[in-house]
Amino acid sequence: MPSSFVSPGWWSLPEEYIGPACLTLWILLMATLGFFTGPMKSVSLWYQFLAAAMPILAIMLLWVTCLSDPGMIPPSYTQDPIIEQLEFARAGEDEESHSQSSKEGYSKEPGEHGAWTRTLIRDGAPYTEKYCVTCNIWRPPRSHHCNYCGGCMEKFDHHCGVVGNCIAKNNHRFFASFMVCGQIGCALFLGVIPWQAKQALSSRPDSWQDPKFIWLCFLGLVYAYHVLALMFGTLHCMGVCLDVTTKDLMSKAQQLELLHNIPCLPGARSPCRLIGVWRSLCAPVPSLRTKQFRHFSDSRPLLPLHRMHSSSWYRSNLNV
Ligand SMILES: [Zn+2]
Ligand SMILES: [Zn+2]
Repeated sequence: MPSSFVSPGWWSLPEEYIGPACLTLWILLMATLGFFTGPMKSVSLWYQFLAAAMPILAIMLLWVTCLSDPGMIPPSYTQDPIIEQLEFARAGEDEESHSQSSKEGYSKEPGEHGAWTRTLIRDGAPYTEKYCVTCNIWRPPRSHHCNYCGGCMEKFDHHCGVVGNCIAKNNHRFFASFMVCGQIGCALFLGVIPWQAKQALSSRPDSWQDPKFIWLCFLGLVYAYHVLALMFGTLHCMGVCLDVTTKDLMSKAQQLELLHNIPCLPGARSPCRLIGVWRSLCAPVPSLRTKQFRHFSDSRPLLPLHRMHSSSWYRSNLNV
């Protein structure tokens, strides 16, 4: 077979764009079915305009979610020297250094691959940062490393394989809005189907077997499924407004924090924040995500800590 058949051509898409491209086609299909196969006939113009605007908005928000920088914390090529000192102290059982480190608020999580953490004071309250051995940074609370994207993300929610990007601080609002627009669009198409079906039934007594009536029922089921499936977009909207991520709900530390700052009570996560939702939604659009860090872990020079990710390398070197 000639190589041109297997080599990437103009039609090839980067892996992360395949999901959004398929979703775009699916949204267009749903809208086309709604407009050209029955439900939108004889519907007022403003309703049709709304039903057309929602899929367009959904597609725009989908691509903004996919292409924007989710909130990656720039990694460092150099290891924090404190980490190296701590690892040497731990491996060599240098009690003096170790106790000195402990005094500074550094500690290591249990297990051979446990991460280093440090406790700092901000606004009079202590908070803990974790050291990422891949990015060589102390990542702030609520940040997590994404293995797919290869970097630490601020206010990490999850990595969405369908959207092809991390959902984090900068694009969580676009992700939630995309799903809500899709849901409203499907609800608008669904809304006219009972009315159209009733009209079809009243025109002919035997229209139960009419292909048009059966098709309307099938479309109704498809749109109803989408409305229900996209309900979790509404939950994400609530999360954006109340500053709660999916990862917060799964993290024990953040669950404790949430218990002291319950979203339904006055505080940083008060329902009053819902009034100021425009501030979240109208914040500046983030810059395009960069490829610079995408393969960071492949391109950087190897550091001792990355070779072993444990103190065994240090222990063996001390013994030499
Ligand atoms: Zn990282
Ligand atoms: Zn990711």
